[in-house]
Amino acid sequence: MIEVKNLAVSYSGLKQKNTALQNVSLTVPQGTVCAVIGPSGCGKSTLLKVVAGLITDFTGQVRINGGEVSPKKLRIGFMPQNYGLLPWQTVADNIRLACRIKDGWTEAKTAKMEALCQKLGIEDLLSRYPQELSGGQQQRVSLARVFLLEPDILLMDEPFSALDAITREEMQDVFRDLWEEAGITTILVTHYVEEALYLGQQIVLMAGGQSGGTVAEVMENKWQGSRAWKTTTEFFAKSQELKEKIKAMGARQS
Ligand code: ADP
Ligand code: MG
Repeated sequence: MIEVKNLAVSYSGLKQKNTALQNVSLTVPQGTVCAVIGPSGCGKSTLLKVVAGLITDFTGQVRINGGEVSPKKLRIGFMPQNYGLLPWQTVADNIRLACRIKDGWTEAKTAKMEALCQKLGIEDLLSRYPQELSGGQQQRVSLARVFLLEPDILLMDEPFSALDAITREEMQDVFRDLWEEAGITTILVTHYVEEALYLGQQIVLMAGGQSGGTVAEVMENKWQGSRAWKTTTEFFAKSQELKEKIKAMGARQS
């Protein structure tokens, strides 16, 4: 479980402080996906970095499974927008990387990696380098790396944004299947409302503003993960409603 209470983060600039987050509270129950959505600059990436332990200068409370954020003690899976693959390492080495850093490579991991790569359809790409892969293939490699780590929590920053629409939907399904099996507590930042509505049991709508980004609304989404739900008129109506809300927030900001 991830708990954030009254979180505030400021970046210190040359002349003044820039408040990125203000009074942000949210709870992600164990084994669920929380989709965070909101206009550009409202602090979504900042929120993820705090939960990942990459930003430690904040006020408020952040707890993971009841304890403090400790990247040393916890296994935190972080998937950045640009896939985070090292160009000078092969696909296989990229997949092994997070596990190697965390607890060294064990034989038991080899079998798990094989099964995961097969499921993701990347078993024939292991000796290639990232630049020899398509965007969708790179994304699969990135998912293999993070799921092989078996993290306590998974943080994804707009993971499918750089992909074309068809590949993006395909990758959403790939993620959904992996997540369903592993049940990892996840925060997924996205700017696609359809992605939030498909993948998040909880949708957190953030708003930006001069005094820092904050949580504007939290919605429960009982249809999460259902492919049938994506083709309903309710899904379409809900998408439009969310888009209008985000647009209105953007307009208020500028
Ligand atoms: P989002 O991911 O929602 O687009 P960010 O978390 O990246 O938003 O940024 C939130 C705010 O903090 C923005 O106003 C951005 O300009 C500012 N910001 C982000 N990173 C830094 C930084 N390293 N130094 C100063 N300001 C930053
Ligand atoms: Mg961002």
